[in-house]
Amino acid sequence: MRVLALLDGTLADPDSPQIRVDDLGLLRGDGVFETILVVDGKPRELTPHLDRLDRSAAMLDMPTPDRAAFERAIELVIGNWTGAREIALKLVQTRGIEGGDGTPTGFALGMEISPKVLQQRAEGLAAVTLDRGVEPGLADRAPWLLLGAKTLGYTINMAALREAERRGAAEVIFTTSNGSVLEGPTSTAVLVRGRTLVTPPSQLGILPGTTQAALFRAAERAGWTTVVEPIPVEDLYTADGLFLVSSVRTVTRVHTLDGKQLPDSTALLPELRGLYESEY
Ligand code: PLP
Repeated sequence: MRVLALLDGTLADPDSPQIRVDDLGLLRGDGVFETILVVDGKPRELTPHLDRLDRSAAMLDMPTPDRAAFERAIELVIGNWTGAREIALKLVQTRGIEGGDGTPTGFALGMEISPKVLQQRAEGLAAVTLDRGVEPGLADRAPWLLLGAKTLGYTINMAALREAERRGAAEVIFTTSNGSVLEGPTSTAVLVRGRTLVTPPSQLGILPGTTQAALFRAAERAGWTTVVEPIPVEDLYTADGLFLVSSVRTVTRVHTLDGKQLPDSTALLPELRGLYESEY
């Protein structure tokens, strides 16, 4: 099922056209978005998601998203949802109409979690490492590349996933040109070393993940050590566990990387997932 709410506080039919063909979001992918997990009617990490939407819009020199209107649209979607316990709730703001007055287009769209994601949450997945063609320092040096903004331009991310499939895997871990771990196309990489969780710094030009932040908060409370530092790709093969985390996938285990089976981390999955769930 899907529920669509517009920023004027009305519901709309997700099966009918709602976006003009001259919307810059469509013509150029010029816009920003968020995907929020809603469980039993409660959106998770709502403020961090809305803050990140603001940050992405600012990086694109777009108007600040109307937070009250988005919050109303979110409530409308949740209030009209009659599907499964979980909703993948997408917030979108585009630059609006080509040649228009600059009024952004925005909406909230609730969707089911795909069966593929549910299966990967349960069974884990195989991933491949792929070069993202960026180097450390590029994000600061070239802000127009919008590294670390959550823009609608996910064409490369989706192409990388297709490349993974061609290589017999389901997911990707992007790396810098000099072999440092970045992130997944729609997820954050988290490594386990003993009782320490490690993730790469967003300064490398990756999206600061709301799920990773929630997991690290919970882990610290439970006595784990958390570290944000560059991770050489080689470390992925020898770590006690490698996980991809995101709002929709929550915590998903990577069992195979570049065709090599990783050390068995099955016991870590319920532990990390338990930490994450303890936040809600
Ligand atoms: N990195 C990228 C590129 C993403 O697209 C996403 C989410 O879609 C994430 C990381 C994870 O972010 P979050 O945990 O806030 O969903």
